[in-house]
Amino acid sequence: MRVTGLPPYDPANIFARILRGEIPAKAVHEDDFALAFHDINPQAPVHVLVIPKGAYVSQADFAANASDAEIAGFWRAVGTVAKALGLEEKGYRILSNMGEDAGQEVPHFHVHIFAGRRLGRMVP
Ligand code: 5GP
Repeated sequence: MRVTGLPPYDPANIFARILRGEIPAKAVHEDDFALAFHDINPQAPVHVLVIPKGAYVSQADFAANASDAEIAGFWRAVGTVAKALGLEEKGYRILSNMGEDAGQEVPHFHVHIFAGRRLGRMVP
């Protein structure tokens, strides 16, 4: 199912370039479905981005067009990263900006993991 209004995937986006190894990133996890790396501009003591290996613009594109194996593999990788970084005891927040109103900057679907301090409540 195609989602209306989605921009085409831009293979020159920064996360695609990280996936291709053209730009360095501080990786914390990699498997068949996902790559996780530290955000270049951390907003919390732990701020990691998890991205699928496939070319998806956003959550809407990923949910509509990724295979079940890709979706399961991606979300398992999010859990693996949180566990590997020791975040389960004190907790963490996951967030994904989807589209213009959410301020999505990089048009390759990604999830932010924030942790390492008491996180304030989100104010829209
Ligand atoms: P968005 O606003 O799209 O949800 O988040 C994009 C995130 O990517 C931002 O938190 C930004 O700091 C991060 N980012 C942008 N460019 C780079 C980069 O070249 N390397 C890394 N590691 N993070 C980046």
